[in-house]
Amino acid sequence: MNRSFTEAGPAADTTVTSACPLDCWDACSVVVTVREGRAIRLQGNKAHPITRGFLCARTVKYLDRVYSPDRITQPLLRRDGALRPISWDEAIDTAARRLEEARAAGGPHAVLHYRSAGAMGLAKKLADRFWNLFGGVTELTGDFCLGAGKAALERHLGDYRAHAAADLRHSRTVVLWGRDPFTSGPHLIPPLRDAIAAGASVLSINPTDLAHPDIVGTWVRVRPSGDTALALALARVLMDDGLDDRGWIEQHAVGFPAFAAALGALPLEELVAEAGVPLTTIRSLARRLAEEGPTAILLGTGAMRCRLGLEASAAVTMLGGMLGTIGRPGGGVTFAARHARGLDLACLRPNPEAVNREVVVSRLPELLPRLDPPVRVGWIESANPANSFGDRRGAVAALRSIPFLIVADFQRTMTTEIADLVLPVPSFVESDDVVPSWGHGYLARQRAAIPALGEARDDLGIYQALAQRLGFGPEMAGDAESWCRRMLTPVLGSAGGWEALERDSFALNPAHEDVPWADGRFATPSGKFEFEPGPLKWRRTQGPTGEHPLTLITPKSAEHHLSQILPAKRRSHYQVRLHPAALSRRGLLPGSVVRLRSSRGAIAAVAVADPALDEGVAVLPMSGWAPDGNDVNLLTPPDTAADGVTFAYYDCFIEVEADRTPA
Ligand code: SF4
Repeated sequence: MNRSFTEAGPAADTTVTSACPLDCWDACSVVVTVREGRAIRLQGNKAHPITRGFLCARTVKYLDRVYSPDRITQPLLRRDGALRPISWDEAIDTAARRLEEARAAGGPHAVLHYRSAGAMGLAKKLADRFWNLFGGVTELTGDFCLGAGKAALERHLGDYRAHAAADLRHSRTVVLWGRDPFTSGPHLIPPLRDAIAAGASVLSINPTDLAHPDIVGTWVRVRPSGDTALALALARVLMDDGLDDRGWIEQHAVGFPAFAAALGALPLEELVAEAGVPLTTIRSLARRLAEEGPTAILLGTGAMRCRLGLEASAAVTMLGGMLGTIGRPGGGVTFAARHARGLDLACLRPNPEAVNREVVVSRLPELLPRLDPPVRVGWIESANPANSFGDRRGAVAALRSIPFLIVADFQRTMTTEIADLVLPVPSFVESDDVVPSWGHGYLARQRAAIPALGEARDDLGIYQALAQRLGFGPEMAGDAESWCRRMLTPVLGSAGGWEALERDSFALNPAHEDVPWADGRFATPSGKFEFEPGPLKWRRTQGPTGEHPLTLITPKSAEHHLSQILPAKRRSHYQVRLHPAALSRRGLLPGSVVRLRSSRGAIAAVAVADPALDEGVAVLPMSGWAPDGNDVNLLTPPDTAADGVTFAYYDCFIEVEADRTPA
C-alpha cells in the first residue's frame, strides 16, 4: 500500500496515492491527504510522467463534491412519488426481484444496461461479466463524443493508437485540430511547452481561441463544421502542388489513386468557402505542414461533434497519410489510445451463449419504444444520460418510459431524480481500482484513501450481492485487486509488473508504443494505410438560418467535469460568449441576461463579449445542470455523426435576444 505519514504526532496527516478515473485523456495519479479519516486535499503525483505534480481545476475541487450535500449515502426507493431511504437488503431484494421478473417476462434482453465513462477503472468493467452471467442484456453501443474519431482511425489505420506525449519533442509542427488541452486534458500542456522549447511551433485549427493561447503560434479560425472542407482543401493543395509524400504513400498505403481522383474532382473554391479560411492561408498552411515536419496532428472532439464528424476525422487522418507523417517520431495523427490495449478481458464474457442486444446509444430515445421484447428494467451506472444527451428531452422521456429504472451514482443527478431505485456508490477517493488512460499508455492505481461515506457500496460489491440473490454468486467473487490483476496479467504479469504498479502507483502498459505504426504494418485488412475511394462528403446539409443565425458551440468547461457539477455552480456557469458586434447588433449589453433560442428550446445565460470570436458563433460550456431545467442540451439537436457514432452537438443554430422572463 502506498500510504505514508507526512507529519509526526497523534493528528498526523497521511497521504494515499490514488488515481482519477474521470472521463479524461490524462488518467492522473492523485495524492490524497487524509486527516482524522477525512480527505482534505488532492494533489497531482509529482513522480507520474503525465500528471507531473498538478491536477486540473476540476479535480482539485473534487472533495467539495465528495462532502457535498448532494451525496447519496443510502439506497433510495421511490414510494408515493418520492425517493425514500431503504436498507441495502431491501434494495438488493427489490433489484433482484425486478430483474428476475423482467427476464421471466421478456428474456434477459428486457433489461437495459447503460454504463458510460463517469468512472473508468478496470473493476468497473466487471459489470459486463455480471450482465453476461445474467444471460446477455440490452447494451448500448456508440459514443457521445469520441466515436467518430475512433471510427475514422479504425477505418484508415485499423486501430486507434496514440503517440506518447513525450514524442512531441521530435515534432517541428504540432497541430491542435479541434482540441483545447487546457479544458480537455491539461497535462498535454507541459509536453507542448517542451516541444516549443525544442523548436516546434503549435498551430490551432478551431472556431474559437484556446483557453491557453500562449502556447499557440498560429490560430486558423475554421468555420464550425468546416473541418472536413478544410482538411480536404489542404489535401487538394498538397496534391496539386506536389507536396504530398508520394514515397510514403506508395510504400505504405492503398487506395490513393481513387482518393486522388475523388479529391481532384472537388470544387476547391467551394471547399474554401465551406471551411471559412482564405485560400492563401490554406496554401501556406499546406506548405508548412509538408515542409516543416515532422508534423504531429492532435485531433480533438471539437472537429467531430457535428453531422460531418466522421467525415472530418477521416479527412484529417487521410491528410496525415498524404503528409507521410504516420509512424514517424514526432508525427502521427493522434486522437485516443485504446485504453485496455493488451489486457485479458475474456473474464468479462464467461458465458459465450449469452448474446447482447445492441442499441446505438444516441438513438435510444427513438429506438427504445420500438424494442421487442420491450425493456422492463433499466440499470444505469457511471452516467447521467438525462443531462448529457443532445436530445435531452427525448432521453428523459425514454428513460421515464422504462417501468423500473435503477441508477447507481454517488451524487444526485438529473438521472437519479427520475430513478425508481438509487444505489449509492463511493467517490473515487473511497474505492480501489486500476485506471487505464485513453490518452496515453500509463496505468494508475486507484486506492481507497478513506472509507466509503455513509452506506455507499462499490459497484462490484453491489453486483456481488445481486449475484448471490440470482444464483451465480461464486462467479462474481473476488476483490477489485484480484480482478484487475487478472485482466492485467498479459501486460503486467511478468517481471514484477504488478508489484511495480503497487510500489509506484503507476506503470507503463508495455502494449503501447511511443510511436505507433513505426513498422509500417497497419491493422487494416490490407495491412496498409487505407485511403477512402470516395465519393467524399464535405458539404453541410444544415446551417444557420435567418431565424437562428448563430452557431452555438459547447466545448468542455475547465470548471466542471461534464455534468459533474457542484450545486453552487449550477447557474453561474451559464455564460455565453459572443462577438461585441453580435451583441450590439441585437441591442444587448455584456453582463446582461439574455435568452438563447433554438428550434428545440430556450435557455437563459449571461452575455460576455469576446472579440476573438467570429460574429456568427456563440460559445457556452457543455453540460452542467440546473434543477430548474435551464440546460444547454435543451437547445442541441438529436442528430448524430454517421450512424450515431457521435452526437452532433455543434450543429446547433440559435438566436440570442433580451431575456424578458419576469423576475
Ligand atoms: S479530470 Fe483529467 S486532468 Fe483532471 S485530475 Fe482527472 S485525469 Fe487529471
